[in-house]
Amino acid sequence: MGVNFTPRFFVFKDFCVNDTVVISGDDARHIIKVLRYKPGDELKLSNGKDTEAVAVVEEIDAKQIIIKLKIIEKNKKPGIKPEITLFQSLLKGDKLDFILQKNTEIGVSKFRPIITERTIVELTQNKLLNRMQRWKKIAMEASKQCMRIDIPQILDVKGFDDSLKTVKDYDIAIIPWELENTCFIKDILVEAKNSNAESVAVFIGPEGGFSEEEISKAKKFGAVPVSLGPRILRAETAAIAVCTAIMYELGGMGGKDA
Ligand code: SAH
Repeated sequence: MGVNFTPRFFVFKDFCVNDTVVISGDDARHIIKVLRYKPGDELKLSNGKDTEAVAVVEEIDAKQIIIKLKIIEKNKKPGIKPEITLFQSLLKGDKLDFILQKNTEIGVSKFRPIITERTIVELTQNKLLNRMQRWKKIAMEASKQCMRIDIPQILDVKGFDDSLKTVKDYDIAIIPWELENTCFIKDILVEAKNSNAESVAVFIGPEGGFSEEEISKAKKFGAVPVSLGPRILRAETAAIAVCTAIMYELGGMGGKDA
């Protein structure tokens, strides 16, 4: 079946069939000026979590840039499986923006920015707030572009030690480490698939990697150090490669349970 390219917009509320919803702002401007929709045209809505709807345009106020639509169909959609939470060390420049956008497309469910021993970038409180706002915008834009129903959650920044305390909440937690040379990602994912793992935590370090002490701490909390192969990947490469591998092995990736 082809992908249906009816554009989709986020309306952050729960809606029912026959409800009237209003779209304004940039989305309305796009629908009116670029898509040139007219009353009677249909578009798709998502509540940003788990429900998609088909809505028909009822009224367009081109001056106020407001569109009134009526919900004519509503479908609950299952969440993306496996549910991946990426614990990513803060990185220099806009590398995290890139990781966020690409992993939104790949299907990562939650992002937890973390601070580790060798995290280089120093963010003041309000710089961090600005970054969080920017990351939420990137996640929403990327979700819209790739026609995702839900928008990945951007969790508050945590220290490495604090993050390790949440490892027990996941079916499997892996910490890719370039010095690991006995446990490989393929073995771990085959094992996870056999045990029907549904929630996965992934820890990716900063430009300088994890320290040996961090790795031994991670083991104590149940995270498994894994090798991603003999080449040393940049953090942004590793973050995307490992989440792709997980989506492929545990999520079907384009197969029956895409
Ligand atoms: N310490 C190295 C690279 C760190 S890369 C250096 O200084 O060049 C940043 C992160 O990517 C690492 O913390 C690790 O999580 C992951 N990574 C990169 N290459 C890897 C590999 N071959 N195996 C496992 N993890 C890897």
